[in-house]
Amino acid sequence: MSAVNGKRQSAWFGIEPEHERSAPAGSTSGTFAGVVFNRPLEQVFTYRVPARLEEALRPGHRVRVPFGKGNKPEVAYVVRIDAVLPEGVDPLKIKEVVEVLDDPPLIDRNMLELTRWIAGYYACSWGQALDAVVPAGVKRQAGTRVGTFLLVPEETRAKLDLTLAGLPPKQAEALAILARSEEPLTIADLCRLAKCAPGPIGTLRQNGVIHSVKRRARKPIKGQGGEPSTFDEETASRARPDLTVEQQGVLERLAPALEGDAFATFLIHGVTGSGKTEVYLSAIDRVVARGREAIVLVPEISLTPQTIRRFKRRFPRVAVLHSHLSDAERHRHWQSIASGEIQVVVGARSAVFAPTRKLGLIVIDEEHEGTFKQETTPRYHARDVAVMRAKFEAVPVLLGSATPALETWQNAALGRYTRLTMRERVEGRPMPEVALIDLRHEKPPLAGLSETLRQAMIRALEAGGQVILLLNRRGFHTFVICPNPRCGAVLKCDACDVALTYHKGRKLLICHACDSERRRPEVCPHCRKAGLHYGGIGTERLEKEVALAFPDRVIRRMDSDTMRTPGSHEAVLSAFKNGEVDILLGTQMIAKGLDFPNVTLVGVVNADTALHMPDFRAAERTFQLVAQVAGRTGRGDKPGLVLVQTSCPDVPAIALALHHDYEGFVASELPEREKLGMPPFSRLVRMMARGPDEPIVRDYMDRLCLALRESLPPGVRLVGPAPAPVLKIRNLYRYHLRLTAPGPKPLQELVHSVPRTVPLPSGVELAIDVDPVSML
Ligand code: ADP
Ligand code: ZN
Repeated sequence: MSAVNGKRQSAWFGIEPEHERSAPAGSTSGTFAGVVFNRPLEQVFTYRVPARLEEALRPGHRVRVPFGKGNKPEVAYVVRIDAVLPEGVDPLKIKEVVEVLDDPPLIDRNMLELTRWIAGYYACSWGQALDAVVPAGVKRQAGTRVGTFLLVPEETRAKLDLTLAGLPPKQAEALAILARSEEPLTIADLCRLAKCAPGPIGTLRQNGVIHSVKRRARKPIKGQGGEPSTFDEETASRARPDLTVEQQGVLERLAPALEGDAFATFLIHGVTGSGKTEVYLSAIDRVVARGREAIVLVPEISLTPQTIRRFKRRFPRVAVLHSHLSDAERHRHWQSIASGEIQVVVGARSAVFAPTRKLGLIVIDEEHEGTFKQETTPRYHARDVAVMRAKFEAVPVLLGSATPALETWQNAALGRYTRLTMRERVEGRPMPEVALIDLRHEKPPLAGLSETLRQAMIRALEAGGQVILLLNRRGFHTFVICPNPRCGAVLKCDACDVALTYHKGRKLLICHACDSERRRPEVCPHCRKAGLHYGGIGTERLEKEVALAFPDRVIRRMDSDTMRTPGSHEAVLSAFKNGEVDILLGTQMIAKGLDFPNVTLVGVVNADTALHMPDFRAAERTFQLVAQVAGRTGRGDKPGLVLVQTSCPDVPAIALALHHDYEGFVASELPEREKLGMPPFSRLVRMMARGPDEPIVRDYMDRLCLALRESLPPGVRLVGPAPAPVLKIRNLYRYHLRLTAPGPKPLQELVHSVPRTVPLPSGVELAIDVDPVSML
């Protein structure tokens, strides 16, 4: 591509394939492409590259090739190019690549390597891994069009002023507009903008002042409203606070890595409010100063305007990748990142695949968050993929958390990661005081609020503070039960093995597994007894209770029911920040990453919701949630108080959260894990089969288990098969098994080889989850 300025260059791409002469068939010489498909097929397939494509084709290109019996054209990824026919391929049967789909290729060499690692580690095909890396909007080239576009050639650009002076007014105006435009323009576009007829533009073309080319280019962006801007020069005031002693200490330790070209992994273990984000910003400063780019991964719910602003204020060219982007926006961001215009990419899980050109650093904030794990194929963990990417690209990676995942902690303890600790909050702010309310002794008189919590809320509000209440259950009543002592059935979803939640506002029973809704019955569906009992408390009921107790206060609820429309999240948070809301209550949505100095009280309405889950990480999740939500208070000049309601005050996960004692929690939890042989003392793989017919699923899992047992290497343990804790979701029965081993190698071999030997009955699906996060 010619050397036009960066912005304009990125707006032009995707040259249409040319059609020339064809290549000789049946020959073993020539050029051959190894391709993979987005299908669960492990092989690399070989195709002949016709002469007309030979020059253009490179590994990483997407191509169209004939596939299968009907030779249907199918998209594939080129992973290899060979000058001789690979062994075992019949030169007479070999088919030809039909078309190259992108130019330049969407995948570079590092990404090819990374996806190959993903396929090997997470037990999917290379093609499936590659397909996950490229967003759908990029594949469809969303927001682009093919047309005849006008171009100002270098000769004209070089003496633009002179040319303009010598032209009649209409032509001069059209040329000036075209030369200034950052968007590719068609004749019609330019006529509209210059308010002229096609005549003057035609004359400019005939005289060679401007050129026209047929190609694919970006569609003009309609209106600026609602469009999240990539460039935010105005806010880029780049104010940098003086770093605290601890922040400086951490940066000094990072400095050699930030200035070097080597892979290194750091765990920044810093209490909430210790200024970790400031450390990331300063670290990014240093790599950006070297002309490198940074990727910052944050959990989707932490992608708040507040977070985004912090990055945009420091760096003029930030791309934010969040789940509400349209395909066209995503494509545009991809292009600007790939063209090297962007300094910092901030995004959720999939931003780990951002096509940066000169990556210098990857940061993963809240690295312990389960949402970094993708729950569909490829079931990758973005933190671990980030570490591998950093390794392939020889750059440092920073993992930050106040409550690191035990796997990360152990990696640091074993010396694989360098641990850097920040124990103090900035500006000498104290950690909030945490106190427990024992629900066994102090029953809330209405539903959720104990008298102690209610009194504390009154005091905090009267002193001008704001209150956050966390309850990790949505809906009004969390279960409905038959009053007949001989029946006592809990109302469940027909399609799922899940108790229904009553949503009072919508007067519906809703299944939180499949989202199906139904009216509430008058009588028990099993024994026909009337007078069904409604129990349990969700955020909707809590909101009502709080409104009754604080009739003069402004209350907002934040959960996935109230936050359906895009922007509602931001609206509530900014109202809360501006002091228009006194009490913010909600699910874990409010627990993460918020930084509001005026919050002086956090109430955890029930700390036990995650504690009794059938999951070996239940204690870890409980500790994390309490510690994280506690971190939302005492962030300003006023000290913070956290009240935690629980029926299990002696459980270490809760008792130790009281003293912000993460290391104490680790010391109590690690021996438990070791006893159970669970991560971080082993590698875990979960295989789950699901299908509509329970006996068929069970039988398949029995056979799979048998086959696995037969080839079980020493040191690998197999538990199962067993029904999954949630047996049925969306009418599919779920059975699982667990494999553990001291290291990943034997498990990888097993998961790639054995499942293929056991034929999958029709209708049954097998999911192989390496390093699973969800155990339900
Ligand atoms: P963490 O990510 O560890 O929770 P943050 O980076 O969000 O902490 O910092 C907490 C608060 O302290 C933020 O409001 C931030 O702007 C402020 N802060 C961070 N570092 C400094 C500093 N060196 N001087 C003054 N304020 C700071
Ligand atoms: Zn359901």
